[in-house]
Amino acid sequence: MKKRISLLILIICMVGSIVFFFPKKNTQEVKTVKKKQTPEISFYHQEYKERYDTYQKAHQDLSKKEVITLVNMNRDFDFYGKIIKQEHPNDLNTIVNKYYQLDETYEPSDLVEINTNAGTYGSSYSKHTARKVIYDDFQALKQACINKGFELYVTSGYRSTAWQKEIYNHMVETYSVERADETCSRPGHSEHTTGLGLDIALDQYKYEEVENHPQYSWFLSQLSNYGFILRYPKDKENLTGYSYEAWHIRYVGKELAQKIEKSGLTFDEYYARHF
Ligand SMILES: [Zn+2]
Repeated sequence: MKKRISLLILIICMVGSIVFFFPKKNTQEVKTVKKKQTPEISFYHQEYKERYDTYQKAHQDLSKKEVITLVNMNRDFDFYGKIIKQEHPNDLNTIVNKYYQLDETYEPSDLVEINTNAGTYGSSYSKHTARKVIYDDFQALKQACINKGFELYVTSGYRSTAWQKEIYNHMVETYSVERADETCSRPGHSEHTTGLGLDIALDQYKYEEVENHPQYSWFLSQLSNYGFILRYPKDKENLTGYSYEAWHIRYVGKELAQKIEKSGLTFDEYYARHF
């Protein structure tokens, strides 16, 4: 009888250890596998794993998050070293930069004149166009500036790829490819071709000196309320591919503009993390 009881206890213990031990082990295994498939960084793409690893090895000072962002941005390639066709040129969140290129034939179908009111200093600016979808918000921003006591103008709006090609080729012929790339987008890579990018002037302060306008800081602080962002901020050349441009604003819509502003990221980084 005692032997039978001992045997029974032994069997219960064995079953117990099977029940308690194995499921625990299985859960751990599942957890490990799950962790590998969905790491904590939401914008990690499994298919870029090798690129992340290579880039991290070459840039050990960067955090994992930075590496993933930069690789998603294609910064493991030189500017213009990898060209991706922009398949959604009409979307408000479309990105066009030194990687994303617009189709040569792309032209927005809703272009309208944007400087409809010449104001005091605007008569020298020829008729510039932009997409109709930005018109109302731009006019509202313009009115906000007028209420504050100064005037806002567009000094360059939509530019076709053919036009951009002429500008770029002229720069290359006059100087060099390197010099042209410093100051000028290659055809199909200009944000002006989306009809959503604008160069601006404030009062008599032309685009290249717009930063000196006494209300420039206030103007910047208002941009996102009207759906615009400063596209090429200071000290971000390595991310945007462009030197600081105080005059180039980009329309993305109010909601996205406010999110980008809050994130403190460039549009290129934000795009790499969210789209
Ligand atoms: Zn511009």
